[in-house]
Amino acid sequence: MLGIKQNEQPQQGDHDWIGPAPWIPDGVPGPKAKRFIERDERLTSPSYTRDYPLVVKRALGSVIEDVDGNRFLDFAAGIAVCATGHCHPKVVQAIEEQARNLIHICGSDFYYPVMVELVEKLTAITPGPGPKRVYLTNSGTEAVEAAMKLARYYTRRQWIIGFYGAFHGRTMGALSLTCSKARQRERFGPLVPMVAHVPFGDADAIESNLFRYEMAPSEVAAIFVEPIQGEGGYILPPPGFLQQIRDICDRHKILMVCDEIQSGTGRTGRWFACEHFDVIPDVALVAKGLASGMPLGAVVAPEEVMSWPPGAQGSTFAGNPVCCAAANATLELVESSYMANAAKLGPRLLAALENIADKRKVVTAARGLGLMCALDVISRRTGKGDAKRRERILRASFERGLLLLPCGEHAIRFCPPLCINEAQLDVGLKLFDEAVATVL
Ligand code: PLP
Repeated sequence: MLGIKQNEQPQQGDHDWIGPAPWIPDGVPGPKAKRFIERDERLTSPSYTRDYPLVVKRALGSVIEDVDGNRFLDFAAGIAVCATGHCHPKVVQAIEEQARNLIHICGSDFYYPVMVELVEKLTAITPGPGPKRVYLTNSGTEAVEAAMKLARYYTRRQWIIGFYGAFHGRTMGALSLTCSKARQRERFGPLVPMVAHVPFGDADAIESNLFRYEMAPSEVAAIFVEPIQGEGGYILPPPGFLQQIRDICDRHKILMVCDEIQSGTGRTGRWFACEHFDVIPDVALVAKGLASGMPLGAVVAPEEVMSWPPGAQGSTFAGNPVCCAAANATLELVESSYMANAAKLGPRLLAALENIADKRKVVTAARGLGLMCALDVISRRTGKGDAKRRERILRASFERGLLLLPCGEHAIRFCPPLCINEAQLDVGLKLFDEAVATVL
Protein backbone atom coordinates (compact mmCIF):
# COMPACT_ATOMS: atom_id res chain seq x y z
CA MET A 1 0.00 0.00 0.00
CA LEU A 2 1.13 3.44 -0.77
CA GLY A 3 0.31 6.90 0.55
CA ILE A 4 -0.59 9.44 -2.07
CA LYS A 5 0.66 12.56 -0.42
CA GLN A 6 2.83 14.59 -2.67
CA ASN A 7 4.50 17.96 -2.47
CA GLU A 8 1.57 20.24 -2.92
CA GLN A 9 -1.05 18.03 -1.37
CA PRO A 10 -2.81 18.22 1.97
CA GLN A 11 -1.64 16.30 4.99
CA GLN A 12 -3.37 13.30 6.48
CA GLY A 13 -6.17 14.50 8.70
CA ASP A 14 -7.20 17.26 6.31
CA HIS A 15 -10.69 16.90 4.93
CA ASP A 16 -9.43 15.83 1.55
CA TRP A 17 -6.98 13.16 2.60
CA ILE A 18 -8.03 10.07 0.69
CA GLY A 19 -5.83 7.27 2.00
CA PRO A 20 -3.43 4.84 0.38
CA ALA A 21 -3.87 2.80 -2.78
CA PRO A 22 -4.31 0.12 -3.85
CA TRP A 23 -6.85 -0.85 -1.25
CA ILE A 24 -9.37 -3.49 -2.23
CA PRO A 25 -10.27 -5.56 0.83
CA ASP A 26 -13.35 -7.36 -0.54
CA GLY A 27 -13.09 -7.44 -4.31
CA VAL A 28 -14.69 -5.25 -6.95
CA PRO A 29 -17.28 -4.20 -7.85
CA GLY A 30 -18.68 -3.82 -4.34
CA PRO A 31 -22.41 -3.80 -3.49
CA LYS A 32 -22.91 -0.03 -3.81
CA ALA A 33 -21.11 0.05 -7.15
CA LYS A 34 -23.31 -2.75 -8.46
CA ARG A 35 -26.47 -0.86 -7.54
CA PHE A 36 -25.29 2.36 -9.24
CA ILE A 37 -24.32 0.44 -12.35
CA GLU A 38 -27.78 -1.14 -12.58
CA ARG A 39 -29.43 2.27 -12.32
CA ASP A 40 -26.99 3.86 -14.76
CA GLU A 41 -27.28 1.17 -17.38
CA ARG A 42 -31.05 1.42 -17.50
CA LEU A 43 -30.92 5.08 -18.50
CA THR A 44 -27.65 6.08 -20.14
CA SER A 45 -26.74 5.87 -23.79
CA PRO A 46 -25.53 2.41 -24.74
CA SER A 47 -22.85 4.08 -26.87
CA TYR A 48 -20.65 4.62 -23.80
CA THR A 49 -17.72 2.21 -23.63
CA ARG A 50 -17.26 1.21 -20.02
CA ASP A 51 -14.29 -1.13 -19.86
CA TYR A 52 -14.84 -2.26 -16.28
CA PRO A 53 -17.26 -1.49 -13.43
CA LEU A 54 -15.65 1.47 -11.67
CA VAL A 55 -18.07 3.78 -9.84
CA VAL A 56 -16.11 6.74 -8.54
CA LYS A 57 -16.88 8.61 -5.36
CA ARG A 58 -13.89 10.91 -5.13
CA ALA A 59 -10.27 11.23 -6.17
CA LEU A 60 -7.11 13.04 -5.18
CA GLY A 61 -3.76 13.16 -6.94
CA SER A 62 -3.25 9.77 -8.58
CA VAL A 63 -5.66 7.88 -6.33
CA ILE A 64 -9.33 7.19 -6.98
CA GLU A 65 -11.81 5.94 -4.40
CA ASP A 66 -14.95 4.11 -5.42
CA VAL A 67 -18.36 4.24 -3.73
CA ASP A 68 -17.53 1.15 -1.66
CA GLY A 69 -14.31 2.65 -0.29
CA ASN A 70 -11.92 0.73 -2.58
CA ARG A 71 -8.94 2.71 -3.76
CA PHE A 72 -7.13 2.52 -7.08
CA LEU A 73 -3.98 3.91 -8.61
CA ASP A 74 -4.99 5.93 -11.62
CA PHE A 75 -2.96 5.31 -14.79
CA ALA A 76 -5.67 6.73 -17.03
CA ALA A 77 -6.24 10.28 -15.70
CA GLY A 78 -9.77 10.44 -17.11
CA ILE A 79 -8.37 9.81 -20.63
CA ALA A 80 -5.19 11.87 -20.24
CA VAL A 81 -7.11 14.80 -18.81
CA CYS A 82 -6.23 15.19 -15.12
CA ALA A 83 -2.79 16.60 -15.82
CA THR A 84 -2.28 17.96 -12.32
CA GLY A 85 -3.88 14.91 -10.74
CA HIS A 86 -7.37 14.78 -9.35
CA CYS A 87 -8.64 17.79 -7.44
CA HIS A 88 -5.27 19.44 -7.00
CA PRO A 89 -5.73 21.92 -4.12
CA LYS A 90 -4.47 24.83 -6.21
CA VAL A 91 -6.83 23.99 -9.08
CA VAL A 92 -9.72 23.53 -6.65
CA GLN A 93 -8.88 26.86 -5.03
CA ALA A 94 -8.79 28.63 -8.40
CA ILE A 95 -12.16 27.11 -9.34
CA GLU A 96 -13.72 28.02 -5.98
CA GLU A 97 -12.47 31.59 -6.04
CA GLN A 98 -13.58 32.13 -9.61
CA ALA A 99 -16.98 30.54 -8.97
CA ARG A 100 -17.57 32.93 -6.08
CA ASN A 101 -16.85 35.93 -8.32
CA LEU A 102 -18.03 35.13 -11.83
CA ILE A 103 -19.25 31.86 -13.33
CA HIS A 104 -20.37 33.03 -16.73
CA ILE A 105 -20.57 36.13 -18.87
CA CYS A 106 -19.67 34.81 -22.39
CA GLY A 107 -16.17 35.34 -23.68
CA SER A 108 -17.51 35.86 -27.20
CA ASP A 109 -19.28 39.01 -25.97
CA PHE A 110 -17.23 40.46 -23.10
CA TYR A 111 -13.79 40.55 -21.52
CA TYR A 112 -12.57 39.09 -18.21
CA PRO A 113 -9.11 38.87 -16.62
CA VAL A 114 -8.74 35.07 -16.38
CA MET A 115 -9.35 34.70 -20.10
CA VAL A 116 -6.80 37.41 -20.90
CA GLU A 117 -4.24 35.70 -18.66
CA LEU A 118 -4.92 32.34 -20.30
CA VAL A 119 -4.58 33.47 -23.90
CA GLU A 120 -1.38 35.32 -23.01
CA LYS A 121 0.04 32.12 -21.55
CA LEU A 122 -1.14 29.92 -24.43
CA THR A 123 0.37 32.16 -27.08
CA ALA A 124 3.64 32.22 -25.11
CA ILE A 125 4.01 28.45 -24.73
CA THR A 126 2.88 27.39 -28.22
CA PRO A 127 5.81 26.69 -30.56
CA GLY A 128 6.57 29.27 -33.21
CA PRO A 129 7.11 33.00 -33.28
CA GLY A 130 4.30 35.44 -32.65
CA PRO A 131 2.13 37.30 -32.97
CA LYS A 132 -0.57 34.69 -32.35
CA ARG A 133 -4.22 34.57 -31.44
CA VAL A 134 -6.39 32.10 -29.54
CA TYR A 135 -9.93 30.85 -30.02
CA LEU A 136 -11.27 29.00 -26.96
CA THR A 137 -13.66 26.04 -27.06
CA ASN A 138 -15.50 23.69 -24.68
CA SER A 139 -13.88 20.49 -25.89
CA GLY A 140 -11.35 18.89 -28.17
CA THR A 141 -13.77 18.15 -30.96
CA GLU A 142 -14.86 21.80 -31.02
CA ALA A 143 -11.23 22.91 -31.28
CA VAL A 144 -10.85 20.62 -34.31
CA GLU A 145 -14.12 21.88 -35.73
CA ALA A 146 -13.06 25.51 -35.30
CA ALA A 147 -9.64 24.81 -36.83
CA MET A 148 -11.26 23.20 -39.89
CA LYS A 149 -13.42 26.29 -40.34
CA LEU A 150 -10.47 28.61 -39.77
CA ALA A 151 -8.35 26.76 -42.31
CA ARG A 152 -11.06 26.98 -44.95
CA TYR A 153 -11.75 30.60 -44.13
CA TYR A 154 -8.16 31.73 -44.21
CA THR A 155 -6.99 29.78 -47.25
CA ARG A 156 -10.27 29.94 -49.20
CA ARG A 157 -9.55 26.30 -50.05
CA GLN A 158 -11.74 23.31 -49.28
CA TRP A 159 -9.74 20.10 -49.02
CA ILE A 160 -8.52 18.87 -45.66
CA ILE A 161 -6.14 15.94 -45.24
CA GLY A 162 -5.87 13.60 -42.27
CA PHE A 163 -4.48 10.15 -41.49
CA TYR A 164 -5.71 6.61 -40.97
CA GLY A 165 -5.78 5.86 -37.28
CA ALA A 166 -6.41 9.51 -36.41
CA PHE A 167 -8.90 10.54 -33.77
CA HIS A 168 -10.00 14.17 -33.78
CA GLY A 169 -13.43 13.99 -32.18
CA ARG A 170 -17.02 13.09 -32.92
CA THR A 171 -18.90 16.18 -34.09
CA MET A 172 -19.58 16.01 -37.82
CA GLY A 173 -16.60 18.04 -39.00
CA ALA A 174 -14.11 16.44 -36.64
CA LEU A 175 -15.64 13.03 -37.33
CA SER A 176 -14.89 13.49 -41.01
CA LEU A 177 -11.23 13.72 -40.04
CA THR A 178 -11.42 10.94 -37.45
CA CYS A 179 -10.43 7.71 -39.11
CA SER A 180 -9.55 5.40 -36.28
CA LYS A 181 -12.39 2.88 -35.99
CA ALA A 182 -15.14 2.22 -38.54
CA ARG A 183 -17.66 1.97 -35.67
CA GLN A 184 -17.15 5.66 -34.91
CA ARG A 185 -18.33 6.62 -38.41
CA GLU A 186 -20.78 3.85 -39.23
CA ARG A 187 -24.22 5.15 -40.32
CA PHE A 188 -23.34 8.77 -39.53
CA GLY A 189 -22.61 9.83 -43.08
CA PRO A 190 -22.62 11.75 -45.24
CA LEU A 191 -19.82 13.48 -43.40
CA VAL A 192 -18.21 16.80 -44.33
CA PRO A 193 -17.07 16.52 -47.95
CA MET A 194 -13.56 17.12 -49.27
CA VAL A 195 -11.72 15.36 -46.45
CA ALA A 196 -9.15 12.76 -47.51
CA HIS A 197 -6.88 10.36 -45.61
CA VAL A 198 -3.55 8.62 -46.12
CA PRO A 199 -1.73 6.14 -43.86
CA PHE A 200 -0.09 7.67 -40.77
CA GLY A 201 3.65 7.71 -41.39
CA ASP A 202 3.36 7.81 -45.17
CA ALA A 203 3.71 11.47 -46.12
CA ASP A 204 4.75 10.42 -49.65
CA ALA A 205 1.21 9.19 -50.23
CA ILE A 206 -0.03 12.78 -50.01
CA GLU A 207 1.95 13.77 -53.08
CA SER A 208 2.04 10.48 -54.96
CA ASN A 209 -1.63 9.61 -54.45
CA LEU A 210 -3.79 12.48 -53.26
CA PHE A 211 -2.16 15.28 -55.27
CA ARG A 212 -1.97 13.02 -58.29
CA TYR A 213 -5.44 11.48 -58.31
CA GLU A 214 -7.76 13.39 -56.00
CA MET A 215 -7.06 17.08 -55.61
CA ALA A 216 -4.65 19.81 -56.62
CA PRO A 217 -2.45 20.92 -53.72
CA SER A 218 -3.64 24.47 -54.40
CA GLU A 219 -7.08 23.33 -53.22
CA VAL A 220 -5.87 21.96 -49.87
CA ALA A 221 -6.55 24.13 -46.83
CA ALA A 222 -4.88 22.07 -44.11
CA ILE A 223 -3.24 18.85 -43.04
CA PHE A 224 -4.34 17.75 -39.57
CA VAL A 225 -1.95 15.48 -37.70
CA GLU A 226 -1.57 14.16 -34.18
CA PRO A 227 2.20 14.21 -33.54
CA ILE A 228 1.63 11.01 -31.58
CA GLN A 229 -1.58 9.24 -32.52
CA GLY A 230 -3.68 8.89 -29.37
CA GLU A 231 -6.90 6.91 -29.65
CA GLY A 232 -5.39 5.18 -32.69
CA GLY A 233 -2.95 3.33 -30.42
CA TYR A 234 -0.28 5.72 -29.08
CA ILE A 235 1.63 5.48 -32.31
CA LEU A 236 4.83 7.49 -32.62
CA PRO A 237 5.55 9.11 -35.98
CA PRO A 238 8.34 7.49 -38.00
CA PRO A 239 11.54 9.57 -38.24
CA GLY A 240 11.19 12.53 -40.58
CA PHE A 241 7.43 12.12 -41.06
CA LEU A 242 6.34 15.33 -39.38
CA GLN A 243 9.11 17.32 -41.07
CA GLN A 244 7.96 15.94 -44.40
CA ILE A 245 4.44 17.16 -43.71
CA ARG A 246 5.85 20.53 -42.70
CA ASP A 247 7.72 20.65 -45.97
CA ILE A 248 4.66 19.73 -48.07
CA CYS A 249 2.66 22.41 -46.26
CA ASP A 250 5.35 25.02 -46.85
CA ARG A 251 5.68 24.21 -50.53
CA HIS A 252 1.95 24.39 -51.20
CA LYS A 253 0.90 27.07 -48.68
CA ILE A 254 -1.16 24.52 -46.76
CA LEU A 255 -1.72 24.98 -43.02
CA MET A 256 -0.15 22.34 -40.79
CA VAL A 257 -2.48 21.75 -37.85
CA CYS A 258 -1.07 19.75 -34.95
CA ASP A 259 -3.79 18.18 -32.85
CA GLU A 260 -2.09 18.16 -29.45
CA ILE A 261 -5.32 17.58 -27.61
CA GLN A 262 -4.04 14.35 -26.06
CA SER A 263 -0.29 14.84 -26.38
CA GLY A 264 -0.07 18.48 -25.25
CA THR A 265 -0.10 20.28 -21.88
CA GLY A 266 3.22 18.73 -20.83
CA ARG A 267 2.21 15.07 -21.13
CA THR A 268 5.29 14.06 -23.12
CA GLY A 269 7.68 16.11 -20.98
CA ARG A 270 7.45 19.16 -23.23
CA TRP A 271 4.51 21.51 -23.60
CA PHE A 272 3.75 20.01 -27.03
CA ALA A 273 4.74 16.65 -28.49
CA CYS A 274 5.70 18.26 -31.82
CA GLU A 275 8.62 19.90 -29.99
CA HIS A 276 10.30 16.48 -29.74
CA PHE A 277 10.34 16.31 -33.52
CA ASP A 278 11.51 19.87 -34.19
CA VAL A 279 8.39 20.79 -36.04
CA ILE A 280 6.48 24.03 -35.67
CA PRO A 281 2.86 23.76 -36.75
CA ASP A 282 0.89 26.69 -38.09
CA VAL A 283 -2.03 25.90 -35.83
CA ALA A 284 -1.92 24.03 -32.50
CA LEU A 285 -4.95 22.48 -30.81
CA VAL A 286 -5.17 21.82 -27.09
CA ALA A 287 -7.91 20.54 -24.78
CA LYS A 288 -8.01 17.51 -22.42
CA GLY A 289 -5.29 18.31 -19.84
CA LEU A 290 -5.53 22.07 -20.31
CA ALA A 291 -7.87 22.72 -17.38
CA SER A 292 -7.33 19.55 -15.32
CA GLY A 293 -10.82 18.24 -16.09
CA MET A 294 -12.82 21.42 -16.57
CA PRO A 295 -14.13 21.56 -20.16
CA LEU A 296 -11.83 23.77 -22.20
CA GLY A 297 -10.02 23.63 -25.51
CA ALA A 298 -8.07 26.08 -27.61
CA VAL A 299 -7.01 26.82 -31.16
CA VAL A 300 -3.76 28.76 -31.28
CA ALA A 301 -2.83 30.27 -34.64
CA PRO A 302 -0.69 33.04 -36.10
CA GLU A 303 -2.43 36.42 -36.07
CA GLU A 304 -2.31 36.45 -39.86
CA VAL A 305 -4.19 33.14 -40.03
CA MET A 306 -6.77 33.89 -37.34
CA SER A 307 -8.14 36.76 -39.33
CA TRP A 308 -11.85 35.98 -39.38
CA PRO A 309 -14.15 38.92 -38.62
CA PRO A 310 -16.51 39.41 -35.64
CA GLY A 311 -19.39 36.95 -35.85
CA ALA A 312 -17.60 34.39 -38.01
CA GLN A 313 -17.05 32.07 -35.03
CA GLY A 314 -18.13 32.10 -31.38
CA SER A 315 -19.70 30.09 -28.58
CA THR A 316 -21.87 30.74 -25.52
CA PHE A 317 -19.88 28.75 -22.99
CA ALA A 318 -16.42 28.42 -24.54
CA GLY A 319 -13.68 30.00 -22.46
CA ASN A 320 -15.91 30.03 -19.40
CA PRO A 321 -14.25 31.96 -16.53
CA VAL A 322 -14.19 28.98 -14.14
CA CYS A 323 -12.53 26.82 -16.81
CA CYS A 324 -10.02 29.57 -17.59
CA ALA A 325 -9.15 29.89 -13.89
CA ALA A 326 -8.62 26.11 -13.71
CA ALA A 327 -6.44 26.29 -16.84
CA ASN A 328 -4.29 29.11 -15.45
CA ALA A 329 -3.68 27.11 -12.28
CA THR A 330 -2.99 23.97 -14.34
CA LEU A 331 -0.47 25.63 -16.63
CA GLU A 332 1.34 27.11 -13.66
CA LEU A 333 1.64 23.71 -11.97
CA VAL A 334 2.62 21.92 -15.16
CA GLU A 335 5.27 24.54 -15.84
CA SER A 336 6.67 24.64 -12.32
CA SER A 337 6.90 20.90 -11.71
CA TYR A 338 4.71 18.40 -13.54
CA MET A 339 6.15 18.71 -17.04
CA ALA A 340 9.58 18.00 -15.56
CA ASN A 341 8.08 15.09 -13.66
CA ALA A 342 6.67 13.65 -16.92
CA ALA A 343 10.09 14.03 -18.54
CA LYS A 344 11.79 12.38 -15.58
CA LEU A 345 9.40 9.47 -15.06
CA GLY A 346 8.71 8.77 -18.75
CA PRO A 347 11.89 6.74 -19.31
CA ARG A 348 11.23 4.81 -16.08
CA LEU A 349 7.72 3.93 -17.28
CA LEU A 350 8.93 2.93 -20.72
CA ALA A 351 11.80 0.82 -19.39
CA ALA A 352 9.42 -1.00 -17.05
CA LEU A 353 7.00 -1.70 -19.89
CA GLU A 354 9.86 -2.99 -22.04
CA ASN A 355 10.85 -5.24 -19.18
CA ILE A 356 7.36 -6.60 -18.79
CA ALA A 357 7.12 -7.13 -22.55
CA ASP A 358 10.40 -9.09 -22.47
CA LYS A 359 9.15 -11.25 -19.65
CA ARG A 360 5.51 -11.77 -20.65
CA LYS A 361 5.15 -12.78 -24.23
CA VAL A 362 1.55 -11.60 -24.59
CA VAL A 363 2.49 -7.92 -24.44
CA THR A 364 4.86 -6.30 -26.89
CA ALA A 365 6.03 -3.14 -28.62
CA ALA A 366 6.34 -0.84 -25.61
CA ARG A 367 6.52 2.73 -26.85
CA GLY A 368 5.89 6.32 -25.90
CA LEU A 369 7.24 9.64 -24.76
CA GLY A 370 7.00 11.06 -21.27
CA LEU A 371 3.86 9.86 -19.53
CA MET A 372 2.20 8.87 -22.82
CA CYS A 373 3.16 5.23 -23.27
CA ALA A 374 1.51 2.05 -24.52
CA LEU A 375 2.08 -1.55 -25.45
CA ASP A 376 0.20 -4.05 -27.58
CA VAL A 377 -1.53 -7.18 -26.37
CA ILE A 378 -1.02 -10.14 -28.65
CA SER A 379 -2.01 -13.75 -28.96
CA ARG A 380 0.76 -16.09 -27.89
CA ARG A 381 -0.22 -18.52 -30.61
CA THR A 382 -0.53 -16.23 -33.64
CA GLY A 383 1.53 -13.21 -32.53
CA LYS A 384 -1.35 -11.03 -33.74
CA GLY A 385 -3.26 -8.38 -31.78
CA ASP A 386 -5.62 -9.85 -29.22
CA ALA A 387 -8.41 -7.50 -28.08
CA LYS A 388 -10.08 -10.17 -25.93
CA ARG A 389 -6.92 -10.75 -23.94
CA ARG A 390 -6.54 -7.00 -23.56
CA GLU A 391 -9.99 -6.89 -21.97
CA ARG A 392 -8.95 -9.56 -19.51
CA ILE A 393 -5.75 -7.68 -18.62
CA LEU A 394 -7.68 -4.45 -18.05
CA ARG A 395 -10.11 -6.30 -15.81
CA ALA A 396 -7.37 -8.10 -13.90
CA SER A 397 -5.59 -4.76 -13.37
CA PHE A 398 -8.79 -3.17 -12.11
CA GLU A 399 -9.33 -6.05 -9.69
CA ARG A 400 -5.83 -5.42 -8.31
CA GLY A 401 -6.43 -1.69 -7.90
CA LEU A 402 -4.93 -0.29 -11.10
CA LEU A 403 -6.93 1.75 -13.59
CA LEU A 404 -5.87 1.52 -17.24
CA LEU A 405 -7.52 2.30 -20.55
CA PRO A 406 -7.28 0.69 -23.97
CA CYS A 407 -6.35 2.47 -27.19
CA GLY A 408 -6.11 1.36 -30.79
CA GLU A 409 -7.29 -2.12 -31.68
CA HIS A 410 -5.33 -4.04 -29.10
CA ALA A 411 -3.11 -1.63 -27.14
CA ILE A 412 -3.16 -0.55 -23.52
CA ARG A 413 -2.20 3.04 -22.75
CA PHE A 414 -0.40 4.38 -19.72
CA CYS A 415 -1.25 8.05 -19.22
CA PRO A 416 -1.21 8.69 -15.46
CA PRO A 417 -1.64 12.15 -13.97
CA LEU A 418 1.56 14.13 -14.52
CA CYS A 419 1.95 14.48 -10.74
CA ILE A 420 2.39 10.75 -10.18
CA ASN A 421 5.45 9.89 -8.10
CA GLU A 422 8.06 7.17 -8.56
CA ALA A 423 6.69 4.92 -5.86
CA GLN A 424 3.18 5.06 -7.27
CA LEU A 425 4.47 4.39 -10.76
CA ASP A 426 6.42 1.36 -9.58
CA VAL A 427 3.52 -0.08 -7.60
CA GLY A 428 1.17 0.39 -10.57
CA LEU A 429 3.60 -1.33 -12.90
CA LYS A 430 3.95 -4.24 -10.50
CA LEU A 431 0.17 -4.59 -10.42
CA PHE A 432 0.12 -4.50 -14.20
CA ASP A 433 2.78 -7.18 -14.42
CA GLU A 434 0.76 -9.41 -12.09
CA ALA A 435 -2.37 -8.76 -14.14
CA VAL A 436 -0.60 -9.74 -17.37
CA ALA A 437 0.68 -12.90 -15.67
CA THR A 438 -2.89 -14.01 -14.99
CA VAL A 439 -3.80 -14.09 -18.68
CA LEU A 440 -0.81 -15.85 -20.15
N1 PLP B 1 -8.21 15.07 -30.71
C1 PLP B 1 -7.54 14.13 -30.05
C2 PLP B 1 -6.10 13.87 -30.40
C3 PLP B 1 -8.15 13.40 -29.03
O1 PLP B 1 -7.45 12.44 -28.38
C4 PLP B 1 -9.50 13.67 -28.71
C5 PLP B 1 -10.18 12.89 -27.67
O2 PLP B 1 -9.79 11.82 -27.30
C6 PLP B 1 -10.17 14.66 -29.42
C7 PLP B 1 -9.50 15.35 -30.40
C8 PLP B 1 -11.59 15.00 -29.09
O3 PLP B 1 -11.66 15.63 -27.86
P1 PLP B 1 -13.03 15.67 -27.04
O4 PLP B 1 -13.34 14.27 -26.62
O5 PLP B 1 -12.77 16.62 -25.92
O6 PLP B 1 -14.07 16.21 -27.97
